[in-house]
Amino acid sequence: MRYYKFIFILLAAAFPSLTYGWGQKGHDVVAEIASRHLTPKTRAAVDSLLGGKTPVYWANWLDNASHTPQYDYSLTWHYKNVDPEYTYETAPLNPKGDIVRALQQQTEALGSGSLSRQDASLALKMVIHLMGDLHQPMHLGRYSDRGGNRHKVSFFDKETNLHSVWDTSLPESAHKWSYTEWADQTDRVTAELEAALLDGDFSSWAVETYEIAKEVYAATPQDTVISYDYIARWSPVVEQQLLKGGLRLAYILNGIFDSASAK
Ligand SMILES: [Zn+2]
Repeated sequence: MRYYKFIFILLAAAFPSLTYGWGQKGHDVVAEIASRHLTPKTRAAVDSLLGGKTPVYWANWLDNASHTPQYDYSLTWHYKNVDPEYTYETAPLNPKGDIVRALQQQTEALGSGSLSRQDASLALKMVIHLMGDLHQPMHLGRYSDRGGNRHKVSFFDKETNLHSVWDTSLPESAHKWSYTEWADQTDRVTAELEAALLDGDFSSWAVETYEIAKEVYAATPQDTVISYDYIARWSPVVEQQLLKGGLRLAYILNGIFDSASAK
């Protein structure tokens, strides 16, 4: 076992982007937008469980933690991949878990009120991170190419893969904003639109992301050279996905910690 673990660590070191979610910026934006939509009661509960740190502080934590022996049970929790011969509904379930079931379990446990303080803090950190991943199309990508990690493309003259483009290159090229500027610029929806975006559950939101992933694959064959036109086309989708992730994360947390806020 130890030998296999060693090989895995070597592989993880060789392919650092494998299983990663939005790059740091994307997760920070989701957590920042969510923070701005917490009710006072939820904010107090979240502040307390995070030991005085903010959701943004913990937004990326799981991407590193999942690669440590203590939390490696959560490696498959960042995604749910579906190959083209299946639909979202018919794709075989990963016996080690996936993002939809992880979010269902962690939020249910958090809402039950039966977790120790330490376990509740852990569940909260996971939900903050995974709600970001749920909105990254390549986290509902194909199983056979590891969510686009093996789908080779070029980003201008740099050889990379489709997963990495959606994690980092595309969001960072869309706007040179800090995470607070991202929130300032994108979190401007009307109450009606916000209510429409909050409609659904983890499964329906995953299906929505999966449908976007199919469009991304169709628009990005292997060896595509991604350039300005691609950034122009997909930046609004990145903006929308980060906004949805943030609004929905707040909605979930308000539902758990401030039931009076349920819409
Ligand atoms: Zn992740």
